[in-house]
Formats: sequence, structure tokens, C-alpha cells
Amino acid sequence: MKKKWKVLVTREIPQVGIDILKTCCELDLNTKGRKLTKGEIIDSLRGKQALCCMGDDLIDAEVIQSQPNLKIIANYSVGCDNIDIGAATQREVLVTNVSGVLTEAVAEMTWCLLLCIARRAIEADNFVRSGQFKGTDPNLFVGTQVGGKILGIVGAGRIGLEVARRAQAFNVRIFYSDLIEREEMNELNSRRVVLDELLKESDFVSLHVPLTAETRHLIGERELKLMKNTAYLVNIARGAIVDETALVRALKHSQIAGAALDVYENEPALIEGLSDLQNVVLTPHIGSATQETRKKMATVIAENCIAGLKGERPTNLVNPEVI
Ligand code: NAP
Repeated sequence: MKKKWKVLVTREIPQVGIDILKTCCELDLNTKGRKLTKGEIIDSLRGKQALCCMGDDLIDAEVIQSQPNLKIIANYSVGCDNIDIGAATQREVLVTNVSGVLTEAVAEMTWCLLLCIARRAIEADNFVRSGQFKGTDPNLFVGTQVGGKILGIVGAGRIGLEVARRAQAFNVRIFYSDLIEREEMNELNSRRVVLDELLKESDFVSLHVPLTAETRHLIGERELKLMKNTAYLVNIARGAIVDETALVRALKHSQIAGAALDVYENEPALIEGLSDLQNVVLTPHIGSATQETRKKMATVIAENCIAGLKGERPTNLVNPEVI
């Protein structure tokens, strides 16, 4: 039987998603084991109706406008800052994300980063591996207690809320900043404050806003100076929300105690000086990387893609104006 639609899948997502797509689509799956260049995406997309892409594929106006047959861009990520949504909407191309299914995994990873930086777990692991552990020492890797402290959550949406829920178990008080009051956050005994107050009062600041024109460099030199010199910054949202040049300077000069980062301004490149610092924990954009979550993400991207191709409303539609 001839498959109805032609779809480009830019990376090897879990098989469950591939199997769903294959039920009605002819797939062009990138098996090169690396990201496609923009030119390769444009060439491979020719004549195809759907694109299943990753959060680090740049799908700008040029890519979108070069594809007259394109009906849907299904993103394997929540943040859609890699896609020119305005250009897609103008060409009546649907854009979907995988919001919802990775919330718990990212909230867990946020706590993993927070605990690792506070308790110096990565430094300590390196110390043991390199054979330097010669017996207990009262001064060995003395970190910062998390319980009893204040966690500032910037962006109290799906992930921010789950991070706050987990804070209850650690006896951590929550301050949050968001565009509006969030009832579910208030039920957790947390307080909505303006960003400056959150930065001044918090012992840990965790970022969960999307990357937009408004949030680019939301945390810069001025904001880092507002933070306590004993405070830690956690960024698992998007790299460019933080001005990394200012961050490296703040870390070098002990303006803040440390940072735990899963995302970077120019991924995969690291800004000079960052990896030389001891007071950072660096992970390679693995916020959603659990087997369970990745399977759900693959299922959702495939279902969104097929729904869009069938002319139905996909569950995770980002630009409903198109419909
Ligand atoms: P979400 O539910 O949309 O939450 C974002 C929250 O931030 C919303 O409440 C939003 O308000 C609020 N917000 C927007 N602009 C703001 C501003 N200037 N100041 C304060 N709050 C603001 O999204 P989510 O599912 O929690 O995901 C958050 C982000 O995490 C994603 O956009 C993505 O970039 C990142 N992420 C990273 C990973 C990873 O692997 N590291 C994985 C998943 C997600 P409105 O709803 O009113 O706009």
C-alpha cells in the first residue's frame, strides 16, 4: 500500500514513535548520528508534508518558506525557540511541541542539579575516582544544606510547579515570579514576588521560563549582583535566558556561590572559562532524558504529526491561529 505522506525525522527518536509514523507515512529518517545542517534540512524536506525536528534544529523563515508542501512542524521539545513560529503561521504551517509529558523528568533533573551543586557531589565523585580519598576528613567537601532555605522559581508553569511540589519534601520555602498569580503555587504556601525580590531573598534560583524576546538575558550582570553571594543558580530552561559572560564573571568573583546548568547560550559550545570553574555542575541538555519520558515524547511527536497531516487539531498545537 502506498503511504500517504512524506515525513522528515531529523534524529533517531525512540522506535515507538517511528512505528506510529510508519503506519501511514513514508519516513526519511536521519541515521547519520549527528544533527543535520540547515542546508541538509532544506534539501531533505523538499516534497515532504511534515517535519519532525529536534529542539536544536534551526527552523527559521528561510527553511519554512522553501517548503511549499509543508503542513506541520512537530518539535521533539517543549521550547519552540528554534522555530520561527510567525513565519510558520503566515504560511499556515502547524507547529506542535511535546509539552506535558516531560514535566516530571525535568523537575526531577532540576532537583538533581540543585542537590549536586549544593552538596558538591560531582567534585566529590571526581575526588574518589582519582584515588584521592584517603579517609574521612571533617573538612572534606562541606557543602550547603538545602532544607530550611528559600528556593526562587522563575516561571511557575508546568515544570516550575512540579519543582515547587518536590520542594515540600525538602522543607524548602518557595518564592516565585511569573506573569500572573498561579493558584496551584499559592496552595503550596509559596509567595509570588517580583523578580528582583526573588533574586535578593533566594538561596537557590531556578529558571523555568521559555526563551522569548522578553526572557533573553533575563539574568544578567545586574540580576546576578542582586543575588546573595551564598546563592546558587540553576538553569534547565534555555541557555540564552542567562547572560553567560556575566555569569562566568560572577562565578569567578564569588558574587554567587555556584551554578548548575543543563543548557547553554550557544549549545553545544561552552563559553570560555566556564568549564575551568569548580563551582559549577554542567550537564548536556538532558532535562527530559529518561527512558520513560523519551518514549512518551516519541509517541506524542508522532501523534501530533499524524493529526496535523490528517487535518485534525494536534493535541500540542503551539499556533492555534492556523486552525
Ligand atoms: P510553561 O508551562 O509554559 O511554563 C513557563 C512559565 O513561565 C509560564 O507560567 C509562563 O507564563 C511563564 N513566563 C513566561 N514569560 C515569563 C517572564 N518573563 N517572567 C516570568 N514568567 C514568565 O513551560 P514548561 O513546560 O514549564 O517549560 C518551561 C521551559 O523549560 C520550556 O520553555 C523549555 O525551554 C524548558 N525545558 C527545558 C528542558 C531541558 O531538557 N533542559 C526540557 C523541557 C523544557 P505564561 O504561560 O503566561 O506565558
